[in-house]
Amino acid sequence: MDFSWGERNEAFRREVRVFLAEHYPPDLEETVYRTGVSHDDGFVRALAERGWVAPGWAREGHRVLDRFQQHILKTEMTRVDAPTYALETTIMVARVIDKAGSDRLKADVLPRVLRGEAMIALGMTEPDAGSDVAAITTRARRDGDDWIVDGQKMFTTNAHITDFVFLLVRTSHDKPRHKGLTTFLLPMDLPGIETQAVHTLSGERTNIVFLSGVQLEDRWRIGEIDGGWSALMLALQDEHSAAFSPHLSRLIEEVEAWAANGHDDRRPLDDPDTRVRIARWATALEVGELLEARTVWMESFGRVPIAEGPMSKLFSTEAIVRAAEDLTELVGPDALRSKLDPSAVQDGRIEHALRFSLGTTIYAGTSEIQRTIIAQHACGLPR
Ligand SMILES: Cc1cc2nc3c(=O)[nH]c(=O)nc-3n(C[C@H](O)[C@H](O)[C@H](O)COP(=O)(O)OP(=O)(O)OC[C@H]3O[C@@H](n4cnc5c(N)ncnc54)[C@H](O)[C@@H]3O)c2cc1C
Repeated sequence: MDFSWGERNEAFRREVRVFLAEHYPPDLEETVYRTGVSHDDGFVRALAERGWVAPGWAREGHRVLDRFQQHILKTEMTRVDAPTYALETTIMVARVIDKAGSDRLKADVLPRVLRGEAMIALGMTEPDAGSDVAAITTRARRDGDDWIVDGQKMFTTNAHITDFVFLLVRTSHDKPRHKGLTTFLLPMDLPGIETQAVHTLSGERTNIVFLSGVQLEDRWRIGEIDGGWSALMLALQDEHSAAFSPHLSRLIEEVEAWAANGHDDRRPLDDPDTRVRIARWATALEVGELLEARTVWMESFGRVPIAEGPMSKLFSTEAIVRAAEDLTELVGPDALRSKLDPSAVQDGRIEHALRFSLGTTIYAGTSEIQRTIIAQHACGLPR
């Protein structure tokens, strides 16, 4: 069994690093940090020129990256916190439109998405419906050929800058909860839509979206009326193999760099406690990377990592939370100075990891939900 990535893939990794050095300069990194918005038009355009906006999507004029190279591209961008969150949600939804959308919707939206010119946010969660997303109450009622939408969405990250929101609404009240839902692509320039900023402890800006009497043409519907649950499941499939371990990799790198430097005539790396803690998290990183590689390997021959994806997400995100706490304790109070403080340790990356890690165990399915999926699908336990 060969666990290496091989020369071809390592060469591709170097190509991605050169791209990032050119297109993700420190001033853009600081803007992303200050605003909490993981998107930049110029950066996405540069990705589009390389054919890296949807690198697994076969189309004329672009080389298709295989599943392993797609993973390398994603992990390298995640490791440096490149502004790709809006692009990731966009591609998730584009795949749903490609599979379930009408020909007109595909023709209207997909070419713009693939050129990096149209962005899509996810509008599933509501104030009283997160893990239990089938509890949503935002409703769409028929009005001639159109729909009138009323309700409220919560945590609609990037909705203030995207062209569309992938909107999950209730269209029938007299059916079982999962069977009365429909998905739409909501153009964000329609009257009756208001977004309100929510700044999280993690440093990410997200939104509340208020929808009041929004008139939506039926051409924006994705899939069948009341068939929204299957469209949603198509979208969520992509979240199964999200790669979180690059965040841990970066954190360990920063602490190693801190430890290798002298501070007050001593080098932390010479202290056995430092070495024990770094070794602990280097081991967790190895496990996290292997779990991610397993999901990629499964997807490379068309299998859906239904329990393996959740195992990977659960392990890596919980490891980042514990590593950030442990390594902050190691570095001491100096670790708590933020990036905006010129005297911050390692450019504030340890402080950022401590806050950022918390969100990772919540979005894309909380840890408890991942454990439930693993219990059912890997262990065969009853619901
Ligand atoms: C920074 C951030 C960005 C986000 N971006 C988006 C976005 O762009 N679009 C979008 O639609 N949503 C987004 N979300 C929402 C995210 O998907 C939800 O927060 C998540 O699904 C949890 O839902 P909730 O917050 O309502 O918590 P709840 O579902 O109310 O959960 C509260 C607690 O109860 C636990 N729990 C819930 N149900 C069970 C159960 N059955 N068994 C055991 N424990 C359970 C949970 O694990 C959690 O600990 C974002 C969230 C955050 C924090």
